[in-house]
Amino acid sequence: MRVLVVEDERRLASIIKRGLIEEGYAVDTVYDGEEAQYMAETTTYDIIILDIMLPKKDGIAVCKDLRAKKINTPVLMLTARDSVEDRVKGLDSGADDYVIKPFAFSELLARIRALLRRESISKTPKIQVGDLSLDTLTREAWRGDRKIDLTTKEYSILEYFMSHPNMVITRTMLEENAWDYEYDSMSNIIDVYIRRLRRKIDADDENSMIQTIRGAGYRLKTA
Ligand code: CA
Repeated sequence: MRVLVVEDERRLASIIKRGLIEEGYAVDTVYDGEEAQYMAETTTYDIIILDIMLPKKDGIAVCKDLRAKKINTPVLMLTARDSVEDRVKGLDSGADDYVIKPFAFSELLARIRALLRRESISKTPKIQVGDLSLDTLTREAWRGDRKIDLTTKEYSILEYFMSHPNMVITRTMLEENAWDYEYDSMSNIIDVYIRRLRRKIDADDENSMIQTIRGAGYRLKTA
């Protein structure tokens, strides 16, 4: 899951970013409305956290323009406590929900999860591929009856695989979904994570559920 955070108060932006990374999200941060517009149009995000009061272009104008361009990424707006008018304008501009500043981080997380759930095609918190199952609410994974302990990053990679069963997943797709722009794509970190995931998921190495597709990427077998 990849998130764009648009917030010109740098301290708040970095707190949000750090918190989201701890939860396993890949996070890009920008500090004004024009940058936000550019990033949202050129990168695929699962959700955009958009402050309203921003330099260069305010959040409401950004949201309106994105919707006019048929970019329907869920938008969660950050609004000031006393501004009912902003909240109404925000929702009217095409935002999906808002959080009032100052907010508890746990509330922000809950709103993000709720929006992502609303977006997910199945609308069910459980994903099942073969005997592998994932609960996206509790972030727990099982192979049959065996519970698999995953780090947040391993979880987000597995969730991506399980949302696209049998599809060839390129390294670029994995990078874009699970890492932000600070990630060094020359590193072999993806191979390291795939190796770790296989070790945790599979009963034996010979029949890994995650197949390597030579020259292309990986694929999660359904059986
Ligand atoms: Ca602001």
